[in-house]
Amino acid sequence: YFNENTIIYWNGNFVKAKEVNVNLYNQTMHYGNGVFEGIRAYDTPDGTRIFKSKEHYERLHYSARKMHINFDIPVKDLEKITYDLLRINNLKNAYIRPLVYLGENMSLSPTADVNLVIMAWEWGNYLGDKLLKVMLSSYQRPNPLSCYVQAKVVGHYTNSILATTEAKSRGFDEALLTDSNGFIAEGPGANFFIEKDGKLFTPPLGNILAGITRATVFEIAKELGFEVIEKLFLPEEIFQAESAFFCGTAAEVIGLRSFNEHIFPLAWEESIGAYIQKSYKIRVVQNEFQNVFI
Ligand code: PMP
Repeated sequence: YFNENTIIYWNGNFVKAKEVNVNLYNQTMHYGNGVFEGIRAYDTPDGTRIFKSKEHYERLHYSARKMHINFDIPVKDLEKITYDLLRINNLKNAYIRPLVYLGENMSLSPTADVNLVIMAWEWGNYLGDKLLKVMLSSYQRPNPLSCYVQAKVVGHYTNSILATTEAKSRGFDEALLTDSNGFIAEGPGANFFIEKDGKLFTPPLGNILAGITRATVFEIAKELGFEVIEKLFLPEEIFQAESAFFCGTAAEVIGLRSFNEHIFPLAWEESIGAYIQKSYKIRVVQNEFQNVFI
């Protein structure tokens, strides 16, 4: 992720990643209270453009608010810092990771010591580009009565790590998790869609992260004339689906080959997901979402 020369943004300065020190008594390391984002920038004909940076940084603010983290750097400033960071590191296509972490405090009360680090590196598609073999996880997503599932909180990702590790150890590529009521929710780091009878279905908000890619899939589907229905459904209903895909910033849009023992009957190339995947890939690098340069 970084080398000798990598520069990161850290509390107001651009510094070498290898020179940064973090206080070991920090609340984020011990209790998982920190918030972060995953963003992508693409090399477009208009120059490097950060995809939906406003939406991502607004979600970072939302996450911080929910977790009582006093983080108030304006979105415009965060966007500018990020463009500077990409330029300094000479990155055109990049994955960007802002992390708001807390300082020295071993209590369970909020602390005023709030730190921001932004890192960026080149990163291929997180789930690769081959159709995925997915398993129903034995883990459920966190209960929305136990935490803010729409906030991107460091500690929430222990659940994602458990699910991913279980899936990989059983020879699958990825996990799919249910919510605390047993309905399908999402993957460890991506939202989920199925195709049935020429329509797309995806779980509604409530038990899932409100993915920015998910919202983009809605936009693209609408423009291409495909209906998207938000609806709770059980794992068994996936066995009746013709096709399925995950979507997220790191993974972009990636199709499934199978879910448990069920192989999806529709060839991926003929699925709605494939149209959306193609359109997404083209449009992000053409800057068709009009991502602004600060
Ligand atoms: N769900 C989870 C649990 C995630 O971690 C992510 C990645 N941020 C997503 C969904 C997809 O969200 P987005 O499209 O905003 O990256």
